[in-house]
Amino acid sequence: MVKSFSQGAHALITGGAGFIGSHLAESLLAQGAEVTVIDDLSTGCFENIQHLVDHPQFHFAIDTITHTLVMDRMVSQCDVIFHLAAAVGVELIVRDPVHVIETNILGSHAVLEAAARYRKKILLVSTSEIYGKATKVPFSEDDDRVLGPTTKARWSYSDSKAIDEFLGLAYHRKVGLPVVICRLFNTTGPRQTGQYGMVVPRFVKQALNGDPITVYGDGSQSRCFCNVHDVVRAIIGLMQNPAAIGEVFNVGSTEEISILELAQAVIREVRGREAIEGADYVFIPYEEAYEPGFEDMARRVPDTGKIRRVIGWEPEIPLAETLRQVAA
Ligand code: UDP
Repeated sequence: MVKSFSQGAHALITGGAGFIGSHLAESLLAQGAEVTVIDDLSTGCFENIQHLVDHPQFHFAIDTITHTLVMDRMVSQCDVIFHLAAAVGVELIVRDPVHVIETNILGSHAVLEAAARYRKKILLVSTSEIYGKATKVPFSEDDDRVLGPTTKARWSYSDSKAIDEFLGLAYHRKVGLPVVICRLFNTTGPRQTGQYGMVVPRFVKQALNGDPITVYGDGSQSRCFCNVHDVVRAIIGLMQNPAAIGEVFNVGSTEEISILELAQAVIREVRGREAIEGADYVFIPYEEAYEPGFEDMARRVPDTGKIRRVIGWEPEIPLAETLRQVAA
């Protein structure tokens, strides 16, 4: 990179009005960068960036990344690209797979094509869904992927993001485009919406509203939740380190918690007492929550050794603190 962010480098963030993108925009502006956001507000929302619009170094366009003329101009004017625009959320994937597949594959293709045209460094944000239902603990970047059949809509998200990764790596190898890929594991924090299925904001909202928390399955499935501020620090660190180019990195917390324990922790945080089954939380079968035959993964833990070795990143914010931030 010619200029650093503190010297005013210009970052383009696709999906910059989303949950993670808006935190990234904030952090880059605070470091002194110029930031342009493009977002079609399909899952993002304008309120996420409203407080930034008067910042002299901030620009935005409400548009889709497949709008070639707009992308061409934006990419030609920036120094680096953070590509976060994607259709995400398990519930959305099950509900509208056509939208998810088209947005992810065609969108990333459009952004990569423009990046290659102007040879701009690009960081692709991918997902732990890449590993599918593999049962290995923890997942390392080179592990095999294990997916269900194409008749189960859930797996289309994993494949759509895998195509993005393949395409990014192919551009890197074929034309020397500087591409970095990071696979985000479960990420949570302020501004995340539960509208598309994400469990932490859903549980916190249910607890605040006085509704019972909806634990899917028997709640023994576990996840590792990383605070969005830690994730943003990883994303910026990877973009700034030349050793990350052409590589794939897991980004996530290694603090594992079952979904039932999460429900209990949320009740403790919001209601200040131990949770009671039936009153504070209820179990809902997967087929009722998603679709008949829905497959969930039992555990999903990242091996974060690679990012620690290359840029020295480790998550710092414990889940208890993250739950407090979300509740606030
Ligand atoms: N989940 C739940 N209740 C909800 C929403 C989600 O029990 O209201 C579960 C979901 O089945 C999964 C876990 O919480 O086992 C994490 O779900 P999320 O959609 O946040 O992320 P995923 O890891 O599935 O991508």
